[in-house]
Amino acid sequence: MHDFGMSAFTYLQQQQVIESFRSFANTLLNSLDDTGYFCFESIHCPSCAVAHHSDGRTSCSRSVVIPAIGKPGCSQVIPLEPEFIVHQDGHKKQDCEQMGARFCRGCGYCLPCPEDIPIPTVTFLKVFSMQMPRDQVITEEHDRAVELAKGCSECRQCVERCPYDLEIPDMLKENIRFYESFSAR
Ligand code: SF4
Ligand code: SF4
Repeated sequence: MHDFGMSAFTYLQQQQVIESFRSFANTLLNSLDDTGYFCFESIHCPSCAVAHHSDGRTSCSRSVVIPAIGKPGCSQVIPLEPEFIVHQDGHKKQDCEQMGARFCRGCGYCLPCPEDIPIPTVTFLKVFSMQMPRDQVITEEHDRAVELAKGCSECRQCVERCPYDLEIPDMLKENIRFYESFSAR
């Protein structure tokens, strides 16, 4: 019987369902699309997309990116966890889609790491810092995670497991640099 404590993706991996979706060059095709989650004129948050309409109205909306693994010729897809679109570092627009799949969803499918690096904690740091106050970004836990990340041996086991094909060793380096400069500000 299916253990409901296990993630659906892990369960499908164990049942070889994910493997059966490999197609071009033995890769997994991951499609991304976005959809509106809600839109209001009266309330907003720091991560809203703001639209100024020609009739003078201003509306604020939140959207999500919905990833799914598909295969040519197969009418079924495997939906993955949706992700809220947020402002990226140094950008005024919400451009997750233009960035394609180059952002971490924090799903944890890349674990475990042989060097005990808490990968999602580090690859998510930049986005985390945009959503949370500074004292929740600069913490002892994050200090430890960043120190561990410096020991990445680039074995690429995590890259094989990441359903978004992220270049995790590069993202670790990028987030280490970000965290160190953010801490020094
Ligand atoms: S490439 Fe680095 S982060 Fe990924 S599993 Fe290997 S040691 Fe861990
Ligand atoms: S690196 Fe990939 S597998 Fe790991 S948490 Fe981020 S999106 Fe998930």
